[in-house]
Amino acid sequence: MKVIVAGAGLGGLALANGLRGAGIDVAVHERDRSPLVRRQGYRLHLSDVGIDALTSVMAPERRAALLATAHTPAPRFVRFDPTLKELDVLEHDGLHLSVDRQTLRDALLAGVAETIVYGTRLAGFQAAVGHVTARFDDGTTVTGDVLVGADGINSAVRRQYLPHARVVSTGLVQLYGKIPAEPAASMDNVFTAITGPGHRTVGVAYTRDYATCSFGARAEDLPSGLHAMTQDQLRSLVLDMTDGWHPLIRRMIAQWHDVFPLELRTSVPIPPWPTTRVTLLGDAVHAMSPAAGAGANLALRDAAALSAALAHGGPLIPALRSYEQEMIDSGFAAVRVSAANGARFLGQDPLPSG
Ligand SMILES: Cc1cc2nc3c(=O)[nH]c(=O)nc-3n(C[C@H](O)[C@H](O)[C@H](O)COP(=O)(O)OP(=O)(O)OC[C@H]3O[C@@H](n4cnc5c(N)ncnc54)[C@H](O)[C@@H]3O)c2cc1C
Repeated sequence: MKVIVAGAGLGGLALANGLRGAGIDVAVHERDRSPLVRRQGYRLHLSDVGIDALTSVMAPERRAALLATAHTPAPRFVRFDPTLKELDVLEHDGLHLSVDRQTLRDALLAGVAETIVYGTRLAGFQAAVGHVTARFDDGTTVTGDVLVGADGINSAVRRQYLPHARVVSTGLVQLYGKIPAEPAASMDNVFTAITGPGHRTVGVAYTRDYATCSFGARAEDLPSGLHAMTQDQLRSLVLDMTDGWHPLIRRMIAQWHDVFPLELRTSVPIPPWPTTRVTLLGDAVHAMSPAAGAGANLALRDAAALSAALAHGGPLIPALRSYEQEMIDSGFAAVRVSAANGARFLGQDPLPSG
C-alpha cells in the first residue's frame, strides 16, 4: 500500500511515523521549502490524548527523549480578573505536559525525514477505482492507494473533497508571543487566563525556560494593520488596552517578544460523509479555536488512529470508515466544546448552525 499525505505539520508527521513503523510506504508532500522557513509556534500543551498518540506512533527511545524535555505544569486552568483576584479554578484529570513545539516537530521529523518532499503544494486530486492521484502546483503528480489531507485549516484537500465544509471567523484576534519564565513563575498552570472588560484576555502558559503570553480581543476592538506593526507598537497597543491592570501583567507585556497576530477561526461541524480513499485529519477537518487547548492533541490522535486502521491489514474502505466515524465524532465534539469555552471566557461568536 502507498499512502500520500499532504502536509508535514504535527498530524502529517505523526501519521508518517506510525505508517513507517508499520512498514507502510508513505510520501509526505509539504508546501514549505524546508522545515525552517516558517514560524511554527512556541509551547504546546499535551494531554493524555496527545501523549498516548505519540506512544503509539513514535519509536520508544525518541518518545522518551522528547518527553525528557517536557515541563509538568499544575494540572489546572486558572482564571483571574485584571487585579489578579482568582475567579475560577478548573482541575484537570490525567497527565498534562508542556513541550516546545519546535522540539516536538524535530522529534517527529527525525523518524521520517526521508519521506518528506518539500516545496510541493497539493493543488487537487483525482480519485479513480483502485487508486488516487494527487496533483501539485508545480504540475507534478503522484499516484497512491490513499490520500490524506493533513494540510491544516486552509486544506486544499478539504476544499475539493468537502466543498460544503466551512471555516469561519470566531470574531477574535490574538497577539501571540513569548516572555521570560520569571514574571510568569506564579502562573505555572496548564493555562492561566486574565479576563478583563470587553473580552480582553491575557493568556499565560509557563514552561521550563520561557512562557507564552497572548493577548486576545474582539476583532472590532483592535486597530487594522496589526501585521505591519513593530514589536514596540504591539507592546504599546496592549499596554494601552490593559491600562490599570495589575502591575505584574503589565510587566509581562513590557517583556513580550516575537509577537505575531492571528485571526482565530473555527470549522463548522458537518454530518458524516461517504468514505472513499481520500481522507482527512487534524485541522484540515476539525480546526477549532484554541480555547480548549486540544487541536494538536486531536491531530496526533487522528494520526495514531489512522495509522493503526491502515496497519490492521483488512479491506481499505471499511478501515477508513471506522477511522472516520471516531475522528468525525470526537473532532467535531471538541470543536463544539472549544466554541462553548471560547464564548464563555473569550467572547467567541457562537458556531453558525449547519
Ligand atoms: C496560538 C496557538 C496555540 C495553540 N496551542 C495549542 C496547544 O497548546 N495544544 C493543542 O493541542 N493545540 C494547540 N493549538 C492548535 C494546534 O496548533 C493545531 O490544532 C495543530 O497544529 C494542527 O495540526 P495539523 O497537523 O492538523 O495542521 P498544521 O500543524 O497546520 O499543519 C499543516 C501542514 O500542512 C502544510 N500545508 C498546507 N497546505 C498545504 C498544501 N496545499 N500542500 C501541502 N502542504 C500544505 C502546512 O505548511 C503545514 O506544514 C494552538 C494553535 C494556535 C494558533
